Order: sequence, then structure tokens, then C-alpha cells
Amino acid sequence: MARTKVEQHQSEAIGDAGYVTPYPYLEKLQEKMEERLAKRVPATGRFCGFCYGRLRDTDTECPFCAHAIAAAGTVNEIPQPVLRAYKARKDTEARWVYGMGFVGLIVASVLFIVLELWGPGVLGNPATGLAVLILGGYVLAQFFGTLIGAQIGFRSGSKKRDLLWGEYLAQRAQELPPQP
Ligand SMILES: [Zn+2]
Repeated sequence: MARTKVEQHQSEAIGDAGYVTPYPYLEKLQEKMEERLAKRVPATGRFCGFCYGRLRDTDTECPFCAHAIAAAGTVNEIPQPVLRAYKARKDTEARWVYGMGFVGLIVASVLFIVLELWGPGVLGNPATGLAVLILGGYVLAQFFGTLIGAQIGFRSGSKKRDLLWGEYLAQRAQELPPQP
């Protein structure tokens, strides 16, 4: 089936992970926010009043969301609900990577048992089984965790983050009605 230009363009933007965030600046900020969550950077500073990206003194336009600083204003701390949204993405991603990595180890263990019980000839040799368990376990854990788990986690975590951010935006709009 022929795909439209828009679909083609979209799938390029999606890349391997298969999810397009409606808020591209959140993806740009994810790593920075994870540094903040890990307390590797100071909690206070000068942040964009719209997206809470950290600004340099010389910025007149936010490098993350492209809002003019004069219009968006600045805050000196990132609100907790915003940090929680980024944490949701990070935690979900980590759970999928480790969870699927564990699945890979279980598959290798099952393979080991099958070989020990029913493997004919050299396949039934304990040395073969051990190699399958150790090397296979490593490869399968990488495959399931780092490849499959990371992709599912990226999608699922990004959706959670974006949903929380959307709710936060709606709430913020209610609390601070835009000035006429
Ligand atoms: Zn911004």
C-alpha cells in the first residue's frame, strides 16, 4: 500500500522507537532533567517560564521550546510536577530494559535445561550448556533488554511523560490565565 508524503515524513521522524512526541522540547530536555533528578546539577538557576529548560544569561529565546524569554518569563526552580513527568519516563524506560533483560536470561536458562535434558551428542555436553547459559544469557539479555525493552520503554515512558506534561500545562493555564 502506498504511503502518503506525510506518513513517510512522520516515519522518518519516528525513527526506530515508533513514537512521536507532540512536545519535541520535552525530548530535548529529558537528559537535562535526568541530570537534575540525579542532583548532578544545582536545583536553582534561571529557567524558561514555559518549558523550564535551563537558560544562559545571554539567551533571549529559549533554546528548547523557542519561546521568547521576554514573553515566557523565567523561574528559579523547576516545579515538582514537571520533574515527576520526566521521572516517569526514566523509570518506565529502566523497568522495561531490566524486565526484558531478565526475560532474556530466563530464555537462556530454559535453553540450558532443554540442552542438558534432551540435547543430542555435543549439544548435550555440559560445556555446551554452560556456554549457552553464560554467552547466550548475555546476548539474549542484551537483545531483549537493550534492543526490545528500551524501545518499548521509550514509547511507553514518553507517553506517560507527555500525558503528565499535558495535564500540567492545562492546570497551569487555569491557575495563570493569559494576560489580555
Ligand atoms: Zn522554554
